[in-house]
Amino acid sequence: MINFILGPAPGRNPPELHRAIFELGVRMNRPFTIKDDQGVGQGPGITVFYGEGPLVSHFKKNTIRLPFSSPASPCVPVERDGKICFGSEGPEGTDLIAGSLNLTTFRHETGESDLPRDSFGRVPPAFHPLRNYFTEPLLENNAAWLLRQIESRSGEIKSVSSPWGGNRGALVLTHDVDGPILHSLFALSRSLMYGIMGNEREMESFRLGLLTRLSGRPDPYWNFDGWSHLEAMAGIRSTFYVYPGSTHASARHLNDPHYFIDSPVFIETLKRLASAGWEIGIHHGIKSHHADAYRESRERLSGLIAHPVTGSRSHYWGGVWTEPIHAWMLMDQIGFGYDASVSPQTLGYRGGSMLPAIPSLAWRRGVHDGLVVFPTAVMDAYVHRLDSGLPPEELKMKMNGLINNARKGGLLVADWHVRSFCNAGAHRWLLDPYLEYIFPLLNDPDFTIMTALQAAEAWRKHCCRCWQGEQ
Ligand SMILES: [Zn+2]
Repeated sequence: MINFILGPAPGRNPPELHRAIFELGVRMNRPFTIKDDQGVGQGPGITVFYGEGPLVSHFKKNTIRLPFSSPASPCVPVERDGKICFGSEGPEGTDLIAGSLNLTTFRHETGESDLPRDSFGRVPPAFHPLRNYFTEPLLENNAAWLLRQIESRSGEIKSVSSPWGGNRGALVLTHDVDGPILHSLFALSRSLMYGIMGNEREMESFRLGLLTRLSGRPDPYWNFDGWSHLEAMAGIRSTFYVYPGSTHASARHLNDPHYFIDSPVFIETLKRLASAGWEIGIHHGIKSHHADAYRESRERLSGLIAHPVTGSRSHYWGGVWTEPIHAWMLMDQIGFGYDASVSPQTLGYRGGSMLPAIPSLAWRRGVHDGLVVFPTAVMDAYVHRLDSGLPPEELKMKMNGLINNARKGGLLVADWHVRSFCNAGAHRWLLDPYLEYIFPLLNDPDFTIMTALQAAEAWRKHCCRCWQGEQ
């Protein structure tokens, strides 16, 4: 048992600090408690003290004291045993708790007021503070290093959980449903317009769309069957995120998807997928990041498909990008169970974390029903041989790095749009990296393939097995 004891930590928010240590504890995969130092006796196991000032005397036996730094000290990547951790320098050494607090509250972004932002409020990857470390699981590395420090004093402590079964990692496959219809007049004219402006791939989309429409062939972008047949063959299920359309509380943004899910073909397709075990979640509209919009979106989609809807991802990563914690607090109030909107808009982890997190612990206790947040490390466009902007060798290295991080207890969330399955026109070469990197994992014994909802439930159970604070 690891007993984390929190001493005075001026300048740090106690619920946020509590939550950061929780995230480290569940990554250590050992039984642990978190308590304040006020009037707490020393329990069985090792005591790990974090805070400013002298240690309360009754904690001195079998106690390890973690380095503490001033909140004014900046958090930076630091190397430990060949792995990159994240912390700030204090008088007693590197404070990895401060680094973990910084990452779990996104203060590594918000603390830097002069970061350039685009029109959606997002920090472009080239200017992001973690830009050189996107594929490093910094929070997991922090936990691994701290655990080594603790076990060097206590001796080995047995792990208590295997979150994804055996010693396997989890692979969560998702499909954002953006522009799944090429045969509409809107989509055809848009492709033609871009084509005339010189975009050859869009011109190819226009020709393909026109030809298939005139000859009565299936719509090349409508690939719900393509994905579900492929996945059924592999014996797996995935998650589709669908834009529910405008609601009373939220208008459709120009860049939101243009389809209407209340059309019969949509309802029939989504119902069929849901009843065969695929998960259907919300793809939040760009202007939909407030409580009423969250509620209405969820009610509308679950009503239409006659299935509960508990998960989401934001279109353009919007809303959740600018104020992630606030957005999750609202989603939690509305009854969402998880959100998969954490992405640096390139390959990797935006918040330095590969594994899920439970931000709701900062505003309410409750792990068994906490709001789970997933980092989405891979998206089709980010591995596109041209659009990714990465040289082939770097692309390969990053993809293999992310996959290897996820083996043996880790997590990889990968998103391929429904339309990408056509691998032609504007979406040419988007299926190739799926076939190269993801498809082989469907039969890899190191991975359990889960829907996002299944992974959220498995993660909560794992957390409950580790945290001895909630029985
Ligand atoms: Zn989208």
